[in-house]
Amino acid sequence: MQPTTTTTPPEQATTHARPANDDLIVATPEGLYCRAGNFHIDPWRPVPAAIITHAHADHARVGHGAYLASHDSAGVLRTRLGADIALETRGWGEVTMRNGVRVSLHPAGHVLGSAQVRIEHGGRVWVASGDYFVSGAGDTNATCAPFEPVRCDCFITESTFGLPIYRWLPQQTVFDDINAWWQANAEAGRASLLMGYSFGKAQRMLAGLDPGIGPIAVHGAVENLNTAYRAAGVALPDTVRLPELDAAGLKRALIVAPPSVQGSAWLKRVPNASDAFASGWMQLRGTRRRRGVDRGFVLSDHADWPGLQAAIRATQAERVIVTHGYEATMVRWLQDQGLQAGAFATEYGDDALDDATQVPAEPTDAAPAAPPAASTATPPTRSP
Ligand SMILES: [Zn+2]
Ligand SMILES: [Zn+2]
Repeated sequence: MQPTTTTTPPEQATTHARPANDDLIVATPEGLYCRAGNFHIDPWRPVPAAIITHAHADHARVGHGAYLASHDSAGVLRTRLGADIALETRGWGEVTMRNGVRVSLHPAGHVLGSAQVRIEHGGRVWVASGDYFVSGAGDTNATCAPFEPVRCDCFITESTFGLPIYRWLPQQTVFDDINAWWQANAEAGRASLLMGYSFGKAQRMLAGLDPGIGPIAVHGAVENLNTAYRAAGVALPDTVRLPELDAAGLKRALIVAPPSVQGSAWLKRVPNASDAFASGWMQLRGTRRRRGVDRGFVLSDHADWPGLQAAIRATQAERVIVTHGYEATMVRWLQDQGLQAGAFATEYGDDALDDATQVPAEPTDAAPAAPPAASTATPPTRSP
């Protein structure tokens, strides 16, 4: 992929991302790059030195020479990329010097360990957000440190849900809806299958459940990450693996699993479960029907439209570069606010890509006679 600035303000129209450009961070074929500090941020091709905002698969890839990330993300990064990666970690706000460039990490509120990267050099401050969660409803994610606004001259923002239709309800309303759905199913003697992406979404849902309603079972891909969350001190309710439940337990159980289990042999144990999918995309009309589930819960770990606006304003940045999501809409809105705005083309996707590459089939949890749950993953997709 060529480095591109897909939208540039008129005064920058002749400036291409790479040559003769003294921007602190530029887009290169490998990923976002800080030339002065000689490191990349969330690169998608192997590089010698990578700073990783968070452990979702499209931001944290294997093959880099060295990794720098937050303390909180160490467990999830090693769970996903291997225990032997060359990883250094830093606390929030701790300063690391790289070739005279001051680098520090600040919470992004998206998933455990998710960080914004602050870079200071030659009197300028740039912040690369990675993915972040700021909700117009004022919520924070109970499973990680909350987003910290960091003042900067240039803010590189995600825009996964950068359209005015995306406005999250207060999360407690969503959790209450989930618990009421579970309670009603339990009273009817029917298991509840709650699907959501295995890293981040699953743990956030678990933290919002009412364990008094019944037992909570999880898919192995979810439990691997639960282990890393618990080790980092995040409080999650007790969970069991599906085969550990007896018939009576199954009838009252809520099962948290990645969407890839839909239609797979893994679900043979709970043939009549009521099913639901939790995602920010559930706000789009028709998504629940296309997913073929009984219920859709609108729950996202990304900023909604008002959250993106609030987060960008809080940085006081005069220049904003939009990465993945609805770039054009967001760039137009920023320019209407009198800000200098452009976009970087990146290879980041959304969380669906994460599960597609990370969640293995679990044939061992299925009934023995069943065929293996082959190819439950969907092909990688790019965000819109
Ligand atoms: Zn992410
Ligand atoms: Zn992302």
